Amino acid sequence: MSVAQNIASVQKRIASAAQRSGRRSDEITLMGVSKTFPPPTMREAYAAGIRVFGENRVQEFSQKANAVRDLDEAEWHMIGHLQSNKATTAAEVFTAVDSIDSLKLAEKLNASAEELGKKLDVLIEINVGGEAAKSGLALDSGELEDLLTAAPKLEHLEFRGLMTIPPFTQDAQEARPYFCKLRVLRDQIAARRLPAIRMEVLSMGMSHDFEIAIEEGSNCVRVGTAIFGQRTRD
Ligand SMILES: *Cc1c(COP(=O)(O)O)cnc(C)c1O
Repeated sequence: MSVAQNIASVQKRIASAAQRSGRRSDEITLMGVSKTFPPPTMREAYAAGIRVFGENRVQEFSQKANAVRDLDEAEWHMIGHLQSNKATTAAEVFTAVDSIDSLKLAEKLNASAEELGKKLDVLIEINVGGEAAKSGLALDSGELEDLLTAAPKLEHLEFRGLMTIPPFTQDAQEARPYFCKLRVLRDQIAARRLPAIRMEVLSMGMSHDFEIAIEEGSNCVRVGTAIFGQRTRD
């Protein structure tokens, strides 16, 4: 199967999941997670309609960026854990950072974006399963509150919503309660109408569980393997 055929098949499944949950499929962004794949493969995905790309390593994407810069209206999202010492390069090469997991990182990114005279879209990553090995802020952590409070001062960041990776389970249905938790948290934060905090994006769902994530309210699914094939690393 070609990348274009894979994208068409994922889009069909997105449409069915959206329909099952009474939503429109055009409300749901299909992010192509292109980590480990080279620029020509990314261009195939672009040609098949992908406009939002996800990458999880600053250095890898820095090396690929020049070869895809010409793709009009494409967005480049950092979705992996970002160390603060790489914030400057990240702010340079990415359109958005969907994995904000500390106030310190947000402050560094804001300072870097200010120097570059640009605005970065960001999502706050939540560790819904409370797993020690995963990054992301705990569901009701003080640091999440600190970040929400600091947002108006971080003028070069545009807080647009939440992202999560639930604990891995063989049966994707077991991820459902975690997706539900993130949606509830999003609704709670949105209801507070905090300054400089928008909550329109709910980024959840990957190759093995994106349909369930959509049923639970996701409007951005991050799909790698089902589009590009197996990878040699995460
Ligand atoms: C790699 C990755 C994905 C895509 O995973 P697949 O299972 O290949 O679809 C999604 N989100 C994040 C944060 C990732 O690192």
